[in-house]
Amino acid sequence: MSDVSDLSKDDAVYRTLLESTKAIPWKIDWDTKKFAYIGPQIEALLGWSPESWMTVEDWATRMHPEDREYVVNFCVAQSQAGIDHEADYRALTKDNGYVWLRDVVHVVRKDNGEPEALIGFMFDISERKKTEEKLLALQKELEALSFKDGLTNIANRRRFDVSLEVEWESARSNGQPLLFDIDFFKQYNDLYGHVRGDKALIEIAQTLSLALDGPRDVVARFGGEEFVVLLPQADASVALKVAERCQRLIQKQAITHAQSPLDQRVTVSIGVGTVTPGGHMQPSSFIEAVDQQLYAAKKNGRNRIETVQVAA
Ligand code: GH3
Ligand code: MG
Ligand code: MG
Repeated sequence: MSDVSDLSKDDAVYRTLLESTKAIPWKIDWDTKKFAYIGPQIEALLGWSPESWMTVEDWATRMHPEDREYVVNFCVAQSQAGIDHEADYRALTKDNGYVWLRDVVHVVRKDNGEPEALIGFMFDISERKKTEEKLLALQKELEALSFKDGLTNIANRRRFDVSLEVEWESARSNGQPLLFDIDFFKQYNDLYGHVRGDKALIEIAQTLSLALDGPRDVVARFGGEEFVVLLPQADASVALKVAERCQRLIQKQAITHAQSPLDQRVTVSIGVGTVTPGGHMQPSSFIEAVDQQLYAAKKNGRNRIETVQVAA
């Protein structure tokens, strides 16, 4: 029923509709790989005039190099298969910036199934991407926080447990743990107050961190006034040396503890364990054995190191 004038009236209506949306419409002829149309909104968004979008080459070259190969290959493959698709990529702006776009593509097919044209809309998704990136950064931050001890800023018990588990499972090495417990710390708190007690814990955590240098070494707060060091690449003699170094550094730090019979300074007792991997022992049993050494160090006078060799 519609005559020519009606059609052109419709065309005008469609054009107005297309050119007043925020999404940018476009059409590519498959045979020539040329743009038959691109909405003028493209210029406001990217700075490139509609006339400068001649071929698919213009589209591909104005894409972030990291996105280009994947996006172009994906779109060509989908189009050839006659599948509608969408792709996210960074489009180059005329002033050398990038804008995240989502291109939603409909494949118009000939009777024989081959593609005749591609019709699509480009959406500006940069705000969404920014939110996504912020969320991702936040998630990473939270993840890091959940493995950190709030007071001393070193790793927490959770992180230590995970590291021990990983090292144990991989059986790549002996995995020497050193358990530290501050001597007479209850008295320290009673004498100087909790705030000074907290400060001493932070200082000792920092000192222990300084004493380590292996890339897989972990120093963590085991709980309360107890710390643990994991030395996955060390043997028994290295572990003992590290324990002695820690003891020496804490002695040098000379945190006054007027009520300690041990030189009136804060000292630590240390239990060191060495394990020969291969058996069915659980890591927790091994830690228990090391804890017994710590207990022995306490019983034998404190400010001492006791070591044990365990067959797992
Ligand atoms: P020992 O020489 O046998 O290790 O005696 P101790 O007094 O160090 O051991 P005990 O287990 O009796 O007391 C541990 C103290 O550590 C008691 C507790 O108030 C203190 N403590 C644990 N966590 C914290 C903390 O986060 N901050 C402070 N300031 N003190 C803590
Ligand atoms: Mg304790
Ligand atoms: Mg103690």
